[in-house]
Amino acid sequence: MDCILKVLVLAVLSISGQGKLLTGSFWHITDLHWDPTYKLTDGNLGSVCDSSGNRPTPQAGKFGDYLCDSPWDLISSSVHAMKNILPDPDFIIWTGDDTPHVPNEELGEEAVLRIIGNLTNLIKTLFPKTKVYSALGNHDYHPKSQLPPTQSNIYEQVQKLWEDWLDPASRDTFRKGAYYTEKLLNQTGFRVLVLNTNLYYDQNKITENMKDPADQFKWADQVLTEAVKNKEKVYIVGHVPPGFFEKKRHKPWFRPEFNQQYIELIQKHHDIIIGQFFGHHHTDSFRMFYSSAGSPISAMFLSPGVTPWKTTLPGVVDGANNPGIRVFEYNTKTLLVEDIVTYYLNLTHANMARARWEKEYRLTETFKVPDASPISMHQVLEQIAHENCYLQKYYGFNSVNYDLSVCNADCRIDHVCAMREVSFEAYEHCVEKEGASSAIPALLPIMFTLAISLWASY
Ligand SMILES: [Zn+2]
Ligand SMILES: [Zn+2]
Repeated sequence: MDCILKVLVLAVLSISGQGKLLTGSFWHITDLHWDPTYKLTDGNLGSVCDSSGNRPTPQAGKFGDYLCDSPWDLISSSVHAMKNILPDPDFIIWTGDDTPHVPNEELGEEAVLRIIGNLTNLIKTLFPKTKVYSALGNHDYHPKSQLPPTQSNIYEQVQKLWEDWLDPASRDTFRKGAYYTEKLLNQTGFRVLVLNTNLYYDQNKITENMKDPADQFKWADQVLTEAVKNKEKVYIVGHVPPGFFEKKRHKPWFRPEFNQQYIELIQKHHDIIIGQFFGHHHTDSFRMFYSSAGSPISAMFLSPGVTPWKTTLPGVVDGANNPGIRVFEYNTKTLLVEDIVTYYLNLTHANMARARWEKEYRLTETFKVPDASPISMHQVLEQIAHENCYLQKYYGFNSVNYDLSVCNADCRIDHVCAMREVSFEAYEHCVEKEGASSAIPALLPIMFTLAISLWASY
C-alpha cells in the first residue's frame, strides 16, 4: 500500500474509532527565545535584531525573521494561539530557553531574569488557573549554559517567579539544583519529574568532572524507586536531551558519562516512565529507548521551538524552522500518550498577511499508528527508515515545514540513527551500518554501467 492510501485507510479507522472519555490534553511549548532588541526599521537595511549576529534580514516582518529570535509579537501570538486552540488544557509543560542567542555581554543576570519574568507573566495572564510544569533551559542563565549544581541567585529568583506553579517541597529542590518532582495535578498514582539536564550539557564548565552534579541522578533514582513501590506512572520533563542532534552527524549534547547514566536511569525504571518531554533542538523529532533485548521501552518527544532562529552551529545547513506549538492527548488513567497534534505559524505568510496558526499534523493520522506508545513510535521510526514517503513527511515536519527539500541518503542516516540510538556507541554503530547498506543501492547503477561497458568492449 502506498503512503497516501494508508493515510486514507487510517482516516476512516479514526472516524469509527473508540470514545475519548478518558482522554485529557496538555500543551508543550519550548524555546521561545524572546529577542527584546527586535525592531523593524525603515527599509530594514542591515539587521533588525541582535540575535541575527549581523546576518542581514531583508525579509524581516512583524512576526519575526528566520535569522532572528522571536519578537514580542511572535511570543504573544504563540501563547494567544494556545489560548484559542485549547483554552483549558489539563496542564502546560514549558521546557525553557527564553532569552536570545546573543553574547553573554549583551545580557547579564538581570536581563535574563527580566525575560524569564515577562514570559512567565504572559503565560500566567492567559492561563491563570492552569498548572505549569516548567524547566530551565541552558539559555535561562547568566553566563549561558553555566547552570550550577548548587544554590544560586537565579534559581532563587526563578523559584519566586514560579512560586504559584510549584508545590512547597518542589521549591526546596528547585533552589538547590533547579529540579523537582510532584504528583501530576496532585493526583495519587501520577507523577512528574522536572529535571535540570543543563547540568549534563557539555558546554557547562562547572559540572565537568563531576560524577553526579547536584546529586540529581541519585535523587531521580530514589524518586523513581519510590514511585515503583507506589505503582505510580511518571512523566519526565527537561530541556537538553540525551543522544544526538539529528541535523549534525556525531553531535551529542551530554557529556558521555552523563549520557550513559541517563540511559541507565530510563532502562531501570521504564515500566513506570510513560513519557519524556524535552526541547532544545527547536526541531520536531523523537528518541527511542530500547531494552538490552532490543524491545522499545520508552519514547522521548522533542517538540519544535517557537523561535524560528536559524542555528549558527557549524555544519548545519539552513537550520531554521517555522514556529511550532504542540498538544499532547493522553489517557488520564494510564498516562499513555494517545496522540500528538502540532500547530504552526508559516512565518513568511504571517509577515505578508496575518498570523494564522494552523494544524500541521496529527501523529496517528500521518503515520498510521494507534497511539504514541513506545511500540507505536518504534513503528513510526521503522516507516521513516524504510519508506521514502514517510521519510519525506517526517523531514518536512522536522523543521515545521520550513525546509521542504529532499532528505537524501546521508540525511536519512543522520535522522534515523539519532532517533534510534541515544547511546553514543550504538549511534556510531548505526551510522556505520546504515552507511554501508545505503552504499550498496547507490553503487548498483555504477556497477551496472561498468559491466555494460566491459561487455561492450569485448
Ligand atoms: Zn533553544
Ligand atoms: Zn537550549
